Amino acid sequence: MVEGARYDAWLLGRVQDGGLPHLGCERPCCEQARASGHVEYPCALGIRDRETGTLLLIEATPAVEPQIAMLHDLAGASGRGRTPVDGVLITHAHIGHYTGLMQFGEEVAATKNVPLHITPRMAEFLRSNDPWAQVIEYGQVDVREVAPGHTCEPLEGLRVEFIEVPHREEHSDTVAFKVHGPARTLLWVPDVDQWGRHDGLLPKLLEGVDVAYVDATFYDGSELPGRDLSRIPHPFMVETMQMWEAQAADRPGVMRFIHMNHTNPVLHDQDLREQVESRGFRIAEVGEHQAL
Ligand SMILES: [Zn+2]
Ligand SMILES: [Zn+2]
Repeated sequence: MVEGARYDAWLLGRVQDGGLPHLGCERPCCEQARASGHVEYPCALGIRDRETGTLLLIEATPAVEPQIAMLHDLAGASGRGRTPVDGVLITHAHIGHYTGLMQFGEEVAATKNVPLHITPRMAEFLRSNDPWAQVIEYGQVDVREVAPGHTCEPLEGLRVEFIEVPHREEHSDTVAFKVHGPARTLLWVPDVDQWGRHDGLLPKLLEGVDVAYVDATFYDGSELPGRDLSRIPHPFMVETMQMWEAQAADRPGVMRFIHMNHTNPVLHDQDLREQVESRGFRIAEVGEHQAL
């Protein structure tokens, strides 16, 4: 029990945008998953307000349906019909984070005015591109712009800070979220450039945070032969662990890795996973719970 907590947060997915198995991958990481039926969804988080029962979704992934179903199950929510959640937050315009919004549209859920909290640039991107433009035009979502550096209150009493982070800016800017409950603060940063390129970014993001979900796309540089990793900028787990070694040893379990690429060996190698965890870091598990 966490004293004074009002909100429950559950992890609804923990891998990179393409999920697992990953289209086009014929290596053991995905062939074995196909053979056994093992499926991993792109990273997303669900939050429930215990007092009102309202629900918030962070990231609308291509797996939005099973993820919201999982949230309803974990939160004991039922009878919600065309209001599957009471708000959505999205970090940026890469496909694992926003494309699920199309299922809020006419052809599927046809939701009514679900508040969508995004940056002005992200809003501009959605307004300029169908099918998301139509979802906005038909009032299936209600865009509430939040500029980086500002906060919103997507559930009563829950304050979320939008923090701009550097990440391949193709269609929109990219933000991290600091979610402040009365008891604890949670950091959500699924996509970010290598820390080394931006002095002081990691400590700034971790400041005042009780639990941190952090980009762990690649374990090290050896995972994608034939792809230019400078064009796919993410911090390597080995780099993050080196930088945060002392803090993780002091407060084990605070930093929890998400957004693993299908190739990331921590998803497949139990010994390596144990090594990571013995240093105070955690590989996040789908369904895990945080009280805020
Ligand atoms: Zn991503
Ligand atoms: Zn694979």
